[in-house]
Amino acid sequence: MADQNEKLLQELVQQRGNNRCADCESEHVDWASYNIGIFLCTRCAGLHRAMGAHISKVKHLRLDKWEDSQLERMKEVGNLRAKMKYEYRVPPCYRRPCEDDPQVLIEQWIRSKYERLDFSQNGHPNYISGHMEGFLMKRGKEDSRYQPRKFVLSETDDTLKYHVKESKDPKAVLRISELNIAFAPRKIGHQNSMQITYMKEGSTRHIYVYHDDPEVINNWYMAIRCAKLHRLQVAFPSASEAELVGLLTRDFTKEGWLLKTGPRPSDGYKRRWFTLDNRKLMYHDEPLDAYPKGEIFLGHNLDGYSVRVGAPTGAKDQGYSFTLFTPERIYNLSANSERDRDDWINVIQKVLERPLTPQDSSMSARLIRKRTGTNAINIFAGR
Ligand SMILES: [Zn+2]
Repeated sequence: MADQNEKLLQELVQQRGNNRCADCESEHVDWASYNIGIFLCTRCAGLHRAMGAHISKVKHLRLDKWEDSQLERMKEVGNLRAKMKYEYRVPPCYRRPCEDDPQVLIEQWIRSKYERLDFSQNGHPNYISGHMEGFLMKRGKEDSRYQPRKFVLSETDDTLKYHVKESKDPKAVLRISELNIAFAPRKIGHQNSMQITYMKEGSTRHIYVYHDDPEVINNWYMAIRCAKLHRLQVAFPSASEAELVGLLTRDFTKEGWLLKTGPRPSDGYKRRWFTLDNRKLMYHDEPLDAYPKGEIFLGHNLDGYSVRVGAPTGAKDQGYSFTLFTPERIYNLSANSERDRDDWINVIQKVLERPLTPQDSSMSARLIRKRTGTNAINIFAGR
């Protein structure tokens, strides 16, 4: 009988909907929650187990024994039917996680769905209201210590503010429409952490925050996305929702250490932390710096931008060198392995081939204005 059930399970898991993880769409489905009636990948099954058996009871499809009633439940529900119940109304601003997304995003998606029933018929998550306030631990600009800071989000005012002292004026006022947020667990060294990035006086500014409660950090992330979406919907009433959702937040394309020389061929190599954010390639002394040391706008191939393997003429190849050409300057860079170098070239090449959007052009104008302005300290300065 057990063998028969195993065979039936294997048939079920091949059906459309069941052949991908119910929570992250992974194609590696080896587990199931037999009270909820869904098929899962290994990672999501672990997160289901962590919620406790009163929420979700998890079994391996082949290594565990299956009873007839449990199999019946799987047949009766399955991933598609479960979605109709647990994802009945996911707010459009909500970022649905995929397989490789940060743990906090997947974990909170699963808890929102099955533990808090946020997206079921009567669910009403608080982050869609357009207002949020609370404390987050924020990294100091000058030192590396994290201190509690009061953050206030107001969709109506298009602002995200933070206060050092609650009673005093805010330390900074960020425009929601101009900021970006990304989870940054590895870099910050905290599972529930985010990097907020915005433009300040023509230069990019980074803020690093975390909260011990993963639900809180996830709610902030979604609240900022919701506020952004609502403002975009007002600004572009004829744009489709899907189009606008694609503009809400973006993860960094690639980050890591590279060696970089100054503008003269005789300059020595210095270790810099590089971040590729859409069309902006930034470099920093340290990964958690508040400001980049330099920002390179990546334009289009046809406008004099290109990247290739090897050091520029007259410069010494460091082994994994590559060269970035921009109309302003030639950058002599070096990765720490062949694979890493090829990855960098590949991601930069993809950006250079992509046509410029109106947003890209305005970003370029802001960076270039900074460069030619009186206080051209960071941009293209080649320190
Ligand atoms: Zn999964």
